[in-house]
Amino acid sequence: MENESPYYRHTKIIATLGPSTESADRVTELIRAGVDVVRLNMAHGSVDWVGEVVGRIRQVSAQLDRHVAVMMDVKGPEIRTGAVAAPLPLEVGSLLEFRSGASPLQEQNAAWGNSGSVASVSVNYPDLARDVTVGATVLVDSGLLRMRVVDKDTDSIRCEVLTPGELGSRRHINLPGVEVNLPSLTEKDRTDLQAGVKAGIDFVALSFVRRAKDIRVLRQLLDEFGSPARIVAKIEECSGVDHMDQIIREADAVMVARGDLGIEIDYQRLPLVQTKLVRACQAEGKPVIIATHLLESMIHSPMPTRAEISDVSNAVREGADAVMLSGETTTGKYPLESVEVLKQIIESIEPSVDGALNSGMKLREPKAKMLRSAAVLAQDLGDSGIIVFTRSGFLAYVLGALRPRGVPIYAFTDVESTFRQLLLPWGVEPFMMSFSDDPEQTIRDAIACLRRKGWCRTGTWLVAITNVIAGEQVIDSMQLRQVE
Ligand code: PGA
Ligand code: MN
Repeated sequence: MENESPYYRHTKIIATLGPSTESADRVTELIRAGVDVVRLNMAHGSVDWVGEVVGRIRQVSAQLDRHVAVMMDVKGPEIRTGAVAAPLPLEVGSLLEFRSGASPLQEQNAAWGNSGSVASVSVNYPDLARDVTVGATVLVDSGLLRMRVVDKDTDSIRCEVLTPGELGSRRHINLPGVEVNLPSLTEKDRTDLQAGVKAGIDFVALSFVRRAKDIRVLRQLLDEFGSPARIVAKIEECSGVDHMDQIIREADAVMVARGDLGIEIDYQRLPLVQTKLVRACQAEGKPVIIATHLLESMIHSPMPTRAEISDVSNAVREGADAVMLSGETTTGKYPLESVEVLKQIIESIEPSVDGALNSGMKLREPKAKMLRSAAVLAQDLGDSGIIVFTRSGFLAYVLGALRPRGVPIYAFTDVESTFRQLLLPWGVEPFMMSFSDDPEQTIRDAIACLRRKGWCRTGTWLVAITNVIAGEQVIDSMQLRQVE
């Protein structure tokens, strides 16, 4: 961190790693550019790749002394078509059959064939025919191919093609409004997670979360693996939206996964659902990520569209904890420029947002209530920061959720996993430091660390949340310190 006190950015940046960014040089540049969390999308990644890139990220972070959290995004219950020998051309009005479950055409090369005169393709969802109704919409290849169900029997459905296109192998299917009855974790997800835990991932993003119990299944598996990774619930279909309150309570963070969500619900409702999710997360004090298509045009262009600039600004104004890049940094031509654009927009918009604290948040514990006073005090003082000491990260998560605009939250921890997990929430700047038995010494060490790293200067006010020892008692306290 340079000495000329650069702008303190509250909103975090997540970048998905892919062919455009996975080399050591590119990882270095991404981290230097200010990425806070790196996402590994397991829809494309293998277990070998995970071990390799996580090692690379950690090495580069150590060299730069700038750390990032790693988020593994597992595919979850995704419906896909089988392989086809060659792309299948589809015209408007033509018929296509989807076969599920026990089908005579199971072998690899015959995953599609002709069932009478109707082209036919397999699908990995046994209950397909039971769950869709005649007249329902089926969307293939991320919404590119739109179809309507015209007929079904016990293990197949036939659809009329509404938009022309080509059907390639293993295309993603969306069934808007259907609560898909597939396990929340596939075999591949479990293998991926095992590799991720071994590599030391900090977050797991679970795709297509439908209910709170999906989170509990993942939590139990992570416990079995002995992983402290936190769980990000991706809300990307109707059932997830319907059960958002329970899911938010169960998860550690939420992702508004607009790619699938914009297909699964009517697109014109997307901004309403986004706002609702952001507010619901803020009421629970859980970090919320806005994902997908933020700077989609920058996959091919060095400049964002005006509409994209507005979309990112809107996410910042709504108070999202983080904004996420996908295609822009996986296969895009301008990954670093994309990070730079996010940074520029965030830095331009944040200072214009009303500084009122998040009043919708339920603060249940007295210590959490004290944090609100600390935030008010720090904002009132100006040229100030808040210091908090935490092992679980809880106090720092609450402080971030209070949204004390203009006030950095310096979170000190002696737990490495907590340190990296604190890279996600809004406004939190984490530091790794060992704690002394003497709380006063711990505060002095923290201030010295901030001073050394250029985060504060003589005269800066620091509101410290700490313990004081009074005889036998340890008392929660809030202290006001001015840097000497
Ligand atoms: P995906 O999730 O990139 O894994 O599909 C994000 C989204 O759907 O927006
Ligand atoms: Mn998705």
